[in-house]
Amino acid sequence: MTAMTAVLFRNGLVLTMDDAHTVLPGADVLVVDERVAEVGVGLTAPPGAVEIDATGGIVMPGMIDTHRHLWQTAMRGYGADWTLTQYFVWYYLESGRHFRPEDIHAGNVLGALEALDAGVTTTVDWSHGLQTPQHADAAADALESVPGRFVLAYGNIQQGPWEWATSPEFRDFVSRRIGGNDLLGFQMAFDVTGDPAFPERAAFEVARELGVPVTTHAGVWGATNDDGIRLMHEHGFMTPSTVYVHAATLTHDSYQRIAATGGSVSVSTESEQSAGQGYPPTWQLRDHGIPVSLSMDTSVWWSGDLFSAMRATLGADRSREHLQAHDRAETVTHVHLRAEQVVDWATRGGSRALGLDSVVGSLQPGRKADVVLLKNDDSPVMFPILNPYGHVAFQAQRGDVHTVLVNGRIVKRDHKLVGADLAKARQDVERTVEHLIATMGPEAWARGMNPDIPATKVLDNPYTYTEWTNA
Ligand SMILES: [Zn+2]
Repeated sequence: MTAMTAVLFRNGLVLTMDDAHTVLPGADVLVVDERVAEVGVGLTAPPGAVEIDATGGIVMPGMIDTHRHLWQTAMRGYGADWTLTQYFVWYYLESGRHFRPEDIHAGNVLGALEALDAGVTTTVDWSHGLQTPQHADAAADALESVPGRFVLAYGNIQQGPWEWATSPEFRDFVSRRIGGNDLLGFQMAFDVTGDPAFPERAAFEVARELGVPVTTHAGVWGATNDDGIRLMHEHGFMTPSTVYVHAATLTHDSYQRIAATGGSVSVSTESEQSAGQGYPPTWQLRDHGIPVSLSMDTSVWWSGDLFSAMRATLGADRSREHLQAHDRAETVTHVHLRAEQVVDWATRGGSRALGLDSVVGSLQPGRKADVVLLKNDDSPVMFPILNPYGHVAFQAQRGDVHTVLVNGRIVKRDHKLVGADLAKARQDVERTVEHLIATMGPEAWARGMNPDIPATKVLDNPYTYTEWTNA
């Protein structure tokens, strides 16, 4: 038997995110081995416990991202000015096939480290670049090399799901790689085009046979729509474990089908706002009583931290509420979406969506110890902490993530990742970038990053500028 390891967070403002959303000022969180042992004031440290002073900080559950294409982190920021159309052309039609297994590995390692650094302890790797079993092994190897909790959502945009999901290689991968590791979950990731022949049926049948949840980009303007939802529903493939990503461009009827079958929606607000899947649907989901989790989608545009997701989601929901009221010549005096709600979505929303709610998502005795301490004594933004949920959603950022535990193990401490080989991660990603530039050619590479800007016509102005002239 190995010796017990214990970590005690001392004297923090503890957001337990339990069902009652209990907040404990000046409280301690004791972690023994893999689990939260106790949460309360003035706990006794077991002999040999690592004590972490949480004074002035917020202790909360690790955050959960339910949809991120980690392999695309190798292209960090490249598509900052893209629309969804440009993304589809680049990844689906032209260049996605250039990624080798080592490129999937490089992107995954970097994105996984980035998540831990930001206090995201569970990430669904929506891995739709798995062209061969070697690519899939590379993705799984990368996730297993980083000490976070991951769900590998297996996908392959180079084939129809009815092809890859029914292949012996896919079965072989699942039997070889999935189920033995507590920290690596599994989903199947594919989209439903709405083709009346419903060819995706074969992939859903495999998922059902394997007992594996399906995650699907649904309600994406110009790509997936109500027909896909209807086909899934009519064939009995909508389940409580189904995760609908974006679900932005859908009708009332589709939201009702999702609500009635118990599934949840992964909202990627920054993505929906910039790429154009549809308006971030939190207002629709609220009206239909559909559970929500948050996600960052891809670092080809955005970073992988959920502070951005919480902030953007509050902004989008409230912005729409005000705008619609102004159209009716009304004033919103009380907003619906609260900071507390988005912190819940970033933690419990994710654990519920992934069927892990009894495992992670809250700080309660017996839960696996995925814990984040937000504390930054050098930051003028860390005091006063008056509204703790508001502080997490609107004030804190990744630089304030002081300590992170996953499964009881310290993976970040004093603002630094523990044992992460960033030099190696950098070298591997640089090799991927070199390979892509060499394969595409420098001109195509530059063109891909800098899409044309549509012309803007300045409106005619009836007023004459008399007070100033251009010097
Ligand atoms: Zn996506």
